Amino acid sequence: MRKYFVAGNWKMNLTMGESAKLAADLKAAIGGQSEVDVAVCPPFVYVPGVVEALKGSTIAVGAQNLYPAPGGAFTGEVSPKMIKDVGCRYVIIGHSERRHILGEKDEFINAKVKSALEAQLLPILCVGELLAERQSGRTQSVVSIQVEKGLAGLTEQDAAKITIAYEPVWAIGTGETATPAQAQEVHAYIRGLVKKLFGDSIADAMRIQYGGSVKPDNAAELMAQPDVDGSLVGGAALKAENFVPIVRAAKG
Ligand code: PEP
Repeated sequence: MRKYFVAGNWKMNLTMGESAKLAADLKAAIGGQSEVDVAVCPPFVYVPGVVEALKGSTIAVGAQNLYPAPGGAFTGEVSPKMIKDVGCRYVIIGHSERRHILGEKDEFINAKVKSALEAQLLPILCVGELLAERQSGRTQSVVSIQVEKGLAGLTEQDAAKITIAYEPVWAIGTGETATPAQAQEVHAYIRGLVKKLFGDSIADAMRIQYGGSVKPDNAAELMAQPDVDGSLVGGAALKAENFVPIVRAAKG
């Protein structure tokens, strides 16, 4: 039985005060429950404040990115070790905004996954197709390349630490959500791929989140699908009044 995992991706939003207030509100509302794994991923500069605000709660903190090197002359970048040092448990890797706005390629994303694991961080690897790719029947081939290349060279032990987030790019921040059936179809396909790569027990245990305009009113039906094990939430993670019901929807 997989435990649901709901993560909020705050992207490049909020002020320091707003991020501390959101963390405090989440702590008060859902910081004591442990039926669902919950994480929030603030911008780097707010991570220490959010870690502090969430102390004593069950809500974990994640980063939105990392640079795959232990340290050194990489101006403007943040290492996995630093992310771990400030109290993060998770790190989002390969988000579509980084793939498509910042031009990140699968090989670079794979290096990030490996360096996150080396630093004892738990990667959330994002995959998903563009609208044109879906419309031309290429969803499975795009997603399979992203999963295979993203997880290339991992041992079974490493693969057991991965969460995959299926995020169709056409559904991110657009208000357009995949139907539960569309999500289930791709999630089952991803689980099949993981089975081929790492075997039955890793695939059966791996959590595959859905992301793309998840809201309080569609979260329950998406997460009711047999291969949807939680959500990666963007816009709706910025307000406790939206994020809290999504976490509650995961409890069933
Ligand atoms: C995301 O950024 O990962 C995301 C799913 O965003 P939204 O929920 O706003 O579509």
